[in-house]
Amino acid sequence: MTGNYTLMMVKPDAVRNGNAEAIFQEIKKHGFEIVAQKKLQLSRAEAEAFYVVHKERPFYGELVDFMISGPIFAAVLKKENAVPEWRTLMGKTDPAEADEGTIRKMFATSKGENAVHGSDSNDNALNEIFFFFSSREIVAQSGIVQLNDIIGRQPE
Ligand code: GDP
Repeated sequence: MTGNYTLMMVKPDAVRNGNAEAIFQEIKKHGFEIVAQKKLQLSRAEAEAFYVVHKERPFYGELVDFMISGPIFAAVLKKENAVPEWRTLMGKTDPAEADEGTIRKMFATSKGENAVHGSDSNDNALNEIFFFFSSREIVAQSGIVQLNDIIGRQPE
């Protein structure tokens, strides 16, 4: 993993409000390449597993209920320093604290329903990419060279 990839989600609030397309436009406008993407509905077990690090937090139940309240988009983004670059564009967790021009400032409604997700480290990015996408899906959407780059494998 080179540090050039991250996993993002468009959360159910933003899909419901019809903002998914505008969010992907912003992402591309800021120089990210979309390596793979899909629309899906998380099951309760999947949402619980994805957010297991927050299991002891008071908002865990609310977060899981929200994340299964409708379809989401998951996407693999590519850019140099993708994790911090995407977190900067995404903005602070609470839209009331997010900077002008960030996705959450533009599209989030509350600290819980905040439009987008982004991995918080390169290790988590790798785990989260393969939580949502199989190697086959990445090859189908972007090719073997791209898959090798994500996992840091030298070409044969
Ligand atoms: P992030 O990295 O900015 O997404 O923030 P965190 O890792 O701290 O939290 C993960 C997600 O949990 C956030 O994006 C929110 O959707 C949700 N969350 C965080 N804090 C709260 C809260 O106080 N209440 C509710 N309902 N959800 C929260």
